[in-house]
Amino acid sequence: MDRANIVIVGGGVVGCAVARAVSRRWSDVFLVEQMPRLGMGASTRNSGVIHSGIYYPPGSLKARMCVEGNRLLYEFCSLHRIPHRNCGKLVIAHDTRQEAELEHLAENGRANGVTGLRIVDRAAVRAREPHIEAAFALEVPSTGIVSAEDLIKTLARIAVDQGASLLTRTRVVRLEPRADSIAVTLVEGDASEGDQLSEETVEARCVINCAGLYADEIAALLGNRDYRIYPVRGEYCELVRAKSHLINNLVYPLPHADGLSLGVHLTRTLWDTVLVGPTADYVAEKTDYERNRLPIEEFVRRAKSMLPEIEASDLQLAYSGIRAKLVPPGHAGIADFVIARDQIVPRAIQLIGIESPGLTSSLAIAEHVAKLAGEVLQ
Ligand SMILES: Cc1cc2nc3c(=O)[nH]c(=O)nc-3n(C[C@H](O)[C@H](O)[C@H](O)COP(=O)(O)OP(=O)(O)OC[C@H]3O[C@@H](n4cnc5c(N)ncnc54)[C@H](O)[C@@H]3O)c2cc1C
Repeated sequence: MDRANIVIVGGGVVGCAVARAVSRRWSDVFLVEQMPRLGMGASTRNSGVIHSGIYYPPGSLKARMCVEGNRLLYEFCSLHRIPHRNCGKLVIAHDTRQEAELEHLAENGRANGVTGLRIVDRAAVRAREPHIEAAFALEVPSTGIVSAEDLIKTLARIAVDQGASLLTRTRVVRLEPRADSIAVTLVEGDASEGDQLSEETVEARCVINCAGLYADEIAALLGNRDYRIYPVRGEYCELVRAKSHLINNLVYPLPHADGLSLGVHLTRTLWDTVLVGPTADYVAEKTDYERNRLPIEEFVRRAKSMLPEIEASDLQLAYSGIRAKLVPPGHAGIADFVIARDQIVPRAIQLIGIESPGLTSSLAIAEHVAKLAGEVLQ
């Protein structure tokens, strides 16, 4: 049986960031990803926004990881020439009641350490976004966008250069705690591709669960049934090329009061396309990206108050992603990230409910997890 210091389950942006952070310090680090390539889950099915940290309750892990992750991500992207843009964003309001909500958001952001926030008037909005209708807006200068694919590739390359082994098409199917290790059983190959499947067991001193939507199932393999992840689909449309001039940067409505999502927003990407979305709807299955997609008219309805001239003929359907929510359907509130050593099997580190702002937070999460790994491997 092979031995490892660390086995990371899941090769999304979080798993890859963790692989980079822990392989700086330890040898025999393995990352295991079931898909043919890294980052095929939520990590490349999102808005690519580098969030500032204005939304999350002060003191929460989401607030701390987002604000710190924002800083680390800009530094990392500049150092490694990863395509990104610190373009700032506007959160818009249509009347004085909504302006008061912008003030609350700004106060919350300041409490989280976000700087440069200020409320601007209609003329200032028009100067930046001539086609946007708003009475007021909150300017958030530290928001930006990043190429998630390039970020993941760079993290993976550095982890490999530092000696980590990154295995794709390999699935973790069993986790068995032993006296001073966890036996991790892997199945290599893809049955749907006609591959010959092979099974192997690695004895790991530490297991890090970065399995995204499936993190509850990985925790359950260790006997921990405290968590349940509810998949919430976010669908996008895209402005047709001829209309992409309508938006210069990022424009958001006020977030949903129930905490479900930030609301359908407008995102100019690094490739000069403009995304409209994502929506937020609970779905029954974690693999259900496409069934019963919303009609284009629904995106027009949600974006119209921000961008009055938008018409159905300006939009085409784009991709969708699935959020790993800890809040069940019918309940309101923001659940915090869970990042902790398992209570029953403390040589396992659980990362559960890593929904937005997980992309922004990935480098800060990785540093935090590396400290927990240090406790396990001391
Ligand atoms: C619609 C949408 C928009 C978003 N927008 C933003 C945004 O603008 N900014 C932002 O900061 N965040 C955003 N997010 C959140 C962000 O995308 C996620 O928080 C982040 O990608 C989570 O990364 P991850 O590595 O934890 O998960 P994932 O990328 O889902 O990776 C988990 C990986 O684990 C693998 N895996 C699972 N089970 C096993 C197993 N048994 N064996 C082997 N491998 C396994 C999966 O195949 C998967 O690749 C958005 C998310 C969505 C869905």
